[in-house]
Amino acid sequence: MKKSLLIVLLASHGILFGQNKSDSIMIKNIYNEVLTHSPIYENLRFLCKEVGNRVSGSTGASAAVEYTRQLMLKYDFDTVFLQPIMVPNWKRGAKEILKITNSKKLGTVELNGLALGNSIGTGAKGVLGEIIEVGSIEEAELLGPKIKDKIVFYNGPMDPTLLETFSAYGQAVRQRSAGASVAAALGAKAIIIRSITQSLDDVPHTGSLRYDPKIKQIPAMAISTKQAALLSRLLKDQADLSIYMENYAEMLPDLPSFNVVGQLNGSEFPNEFIAVGGHLDSWDVGEGAHDDGSGCMQGIDVLRTFKALDITPKRSLRAVMWMNEENGGRGGKGYAKYSTSHNENHIAAIESDRGGFVPRGFTSSGSDQQIKTLISWKSFFEPYGLHDFDKKGGGADIGPLSEQGALLIGLLPDGQRYFRYHHTNQDVFEAVDRRELELGSASMAGLVYLLDKYGMGK
Ligand SMILES: [Zn+2]
Repeated sequence: MKKSLLIVLLASHGILFGQNKSDSIMIKNIYNEVLTHSPIYENLRFLCKEVGNRVSGSTGASAAVEYTRQLMLKYDFDTVFLQPIMVPNWKRGAKEILKITNSKKLGTVELNGLALGNSIGTGAKGVLGEIIEVGSIEEAELLGPKIKDKIVFYNGPMDPTLLETFSAYGQAVRQRSAGASVAAALGAKAIIIRSITQSLDDVPHTGSLRYDPKIKQIPAMAISTKQAALLSRLLKDQADLSIYMENYAEMLPDLPSFNVVGQLNGSEFPNEFIAVGGHLDSWDVGEGAHDDGSGCMQGIDVLRTFKALDITPKRSLRAVMWMNEENGGRGGKGYAKYSTSHNENHIAAIESDRGGFVPRGFTSSGSDQQIKTLISWKSFFEPYGLHDFDKKGGGADIGPLSEQGALLIGLLPDGQRYFRYHHTNQDVFEAVDRRELELGSASMAGLVYLLDKYGMGK
């Protein structure tokens, strides 16, 4: 190899200037700080146990706004502010009733139904109807008029052969998000879905549905995978099985709420921003520990770590708790709108919304050059078990920041257990491992350190 070429290669990897070594040391310091001193686990405990769940528009959500604001004030960030948005106000109401009414084998069978987020209620009169099972949206569409006046039972499982569980989720979740309107367009009375999880257990999973504004709204509930299996078995022996459902969910008028933002001011490029965080709202069951208390607490911990290590950022760093990811995405949209209208420039944003599990890498979307820069830093993280830098992705809340040309990055933790807890009463503080949560926080802080130091070279 020619000497000049070697110099160019080494320089482009930063080796000539001691960059690799000093950065490796700094990243080690960051991991050490988090793994030794981080209060993140206690902060998550407080959010889960003292604040509790926090669906948009609830008193829990308001308490979470105040708690995270106070926490960032306590850490003495340069600025802490609330950014106003309007959010939907969906309420579950009284506990759902769901039962098979006419099983020849078992008589009346009580099921544990959980209304899907954004669902309407049946009211006191309830809905009674014959049930018809389908394995997918496409199958429902093929059945066409046979669905009229029926309760459609979507029983498509998450594909267990996909190692990328989020891909399996992406396929199966269409039943939940679009299933009600597809069935209603064909004259169905209501829908029931098999919970979107790979686990076979007794836990129903909620999550948002989206009504097509042109189509009549019908009620929608989830049942556990075990009860879905039971229902499917009974249907094979008895095609005229009927179900009664009753629930009192309703969508009330929008309410004011907030994104919560903490900031460390940049010393050289104060108008260049790097945002890091998660969504503050959760569902109204469980404690929103993995989804997404973990991501919120990690975002705050990144800035806390910078302060603890006395690192003065060149660019402005923001910990952002986005509101309303679950059933509207208003926080993500509102934050980008606010930021762009203030002529801010986000060079990158990192969202953690795949649970507080052990980190494996980062997903990204951006220009080829941006992604190349991110991948060039992979070797800094390999000693900490992060190898996966090739997958496309980002996050629902940071997506709108693409209008500023930001590199969008998602923390990519191990995904094999996430959907056991997702949107259920099992997503509680005890389901999060302290060490795994901290490793995610440290990995995000290490990446923010590199993004801040080198920028995106746009
Ligand atoms: Zn989430």
